[in-house]
Amino acid sequence: MGRISMFLAVSVIATVCEAIPAQAATDAEGLQRFREIYKELVETNTTLSAGDCTLAAQRMAARLKTAGYPDADLQVFVPEGHPKEGGLLAVLHGADPKAKAILMLAHIDVVEAKREDWARDPFRLIEEDGYFYGRGTSDMKAQAAIWVDNLIRYREERYHPRRTIKMALTCGEETNSALNGAGWLTKNARDAIDAELALTEGVDGDLDAQGHRIALEILAAEKTSQNFVLEATNPGGHSSRPVPDNAIYHLVRAVDRVSHFEFPVELDDANRAYFTGMSKIVAGEAGAAMTAVAKNPHDAASVAILDKDQNWHAMLRTTCVATMLAAGHATNALPQRATANINCRIFPGDARDAVLAQLITIIDDPKVSVSIPEIRGPIATPAPLTRQIMEPIEKVAHELWPGIPVVPALEPGASDAQFLNPAGIPTYGVTGIFTDPDGGHIHGLNERVRVQSVYEGRTFLYRLVKLYADQ
Ligand SMILES: [Zn+2]
Repeated sequence: MGRISMFLAVSVIATVCEAIPAQAATDAEGLQRFREIYKELVETNTTLSAGDCTLAAQRMAARLKTAGYPDADLQVFVPEGHPKEGGLLAVLHGADPKAKAILMLAHIDVVEAKREDWARDPFRLIEEDGYFYGRGTSDMKAQAAIWVDNLIRYREERYHPRRTIKMALTCGEETNSALNGAGWLTKNARDAIDAELALTEGVDGDLDAQGHRIALEILAAEKTSQNFVLEATNPGGHSSRPVPDNAIYHLVRAVDRVSHFEFPVELDDANRAYFTGMSKIVAGEAGAAMTAVAKNPHDAASVAILDKDQNWHAMLRTTCVATMLAAGHATNALPQRATANINCRIFPGDARDAVLAQLITIIDDPKVSVSIPEIRGPIATPAPLTRQIMEPIEKVAHELWPGIPVVPALEPGASDAQFLNPAGIPTYGVTGIFTDPDGGHIHGLNERVRVQSVYEGRTFLYRLVKLYADQ
């Protein structure tokens, strides 16, 4: 931890001298306490524009201090030049110094939310009709609160795990241009977060429209987001004397070619396991297509059936899509420049340069250049789905939800696993929180999550971390 460049003093609200509270909370008191942690996190605005992750981290540190954690095991870290983008590292020491730690990872920043657009105040935890409403209720302050609550419960019950249990709460996951706290830790405090494996967000349990559980997903592989810029330039001229060689026409033809291209289907452990597992749940034509594609990715008829679902389509391959256009400088002038942004989601393990070469081949026009504007990090590599990983998840899932299958997934989006996996910390997305088919409006308006799902996730993650910590 000595490598962390700057620590802020942990603010302490309670004057607690005793290391361990005299008595463990009852179940009801424990749940109430968890709710207060969750409420405090949701009601601490952590948007990039107006929020303060450092304050949220300090508040969680204060709760752990009250629970008996010594200052030495609580570090509020603040990257230099980013006073409001801090985070928290906390440690519960294990008995076996040779065993590697388990890391509970959560981002505590949230996507922007405008009060005037929301039906309820986004920065109040509101319980209504069986749901918690508020920005971050689902993504991902429920899990962050569960991690803090786990540490408090473990300490209170004098649990001595074999492995050390670490927690990292970080900022900057939700905004591409922000400093990413998890990435910062891999560079500036790699030892402090070193672990056998890390657990974080990524995918949830799936509910159907009636609220019945379908499957518990776990995430072991993510795609990598990469922008490519297409650009056509031209000397231009007066629009009263047009010529065929026009920057906009070149660009539009290039974008059109990209729109018609499909990258080939690829299978890895994650999407093969997903389609194999889901084929037993999804009935009819789609289920049969899943079985067929998991065996033979060249089965075009079956691929076409799965491609009708935008999520399955994205899970099968690299995708590229036009997201922004800019062209011309005057309404009465021939355009001198036309550019398009193509956002690709690269299949785990595929090379960025191979996608670039493929785009150049598809576009097939020397007048249109294709370039990579910025590289945010390495290409995501999947974390291995071993029995050591799967068995504890399957065990606790079976205890809580007998008969509900555990299904690995490949996530078309990206989480902080994109920073930890390349740093040598295998990172898995598992929440035990079951969400509605609408995804709980994460990143959108009126974000929400079922109350019962959050409470079940709390039980699931409490037990799961113990199983890993005693492995
Ligand atoms: Zn998130």
